[in-house]
Amino acid sequence: MVKRKALDKRYIYLRDGQRCFYCGKHLKPGQMTLDHYEPRSEGGSDDYFNLVSCCRLCNKYKKNKIPVDKGKIHLELFHRAWKDKKVLWAVKGIGRNESEEILSRITSVHCRGEISLARGDKITLYIRNNIVIRMDGDRMGIL
Ligand SMILES: [Zn+2]
Repeated sequence: MVKRKALDKRYIYLRDGQRCFYCGKHLKPGQMTLDHYEPRSEGGSDDYFNLVSCCRLCNKYKKNKIPVDKGKIHLELFHRAWKDKKVLWAVKGIGRNESEEILSRITSVHCRGEISLARGDKITLYIRNNIVIRMDGDRMGIL
């Protein structure tokens, strides 16, 4: 059983280059706010791939708008979080090595609702609180 870790705000701050994700303004740690890319009010998750560094002003103006490029951003941040070991793997019977191959096939990520979904060719991963808890589909991608 993989336990949920406390959200690492500093990771997001450093990942985003100590800058506001939207306007690029350099932020001191105390100036940074967290923004849910898929808004929380729309069911946006607390996964690392749905959270970005944001200055107060952009956070205020963004409100509950849903960015048009969210699919692309979620996918990029998902692969980044995986590489940085911020997304944990807890699917029974499949080890980290095999999970690497599975992860490389993921081409879309959705962060709305309690469970985020990552999908690729013949495969769906279910992610809750940054932990991959279930997988449906074809392990080897050959069927
Ligand atoms: Zn900003």
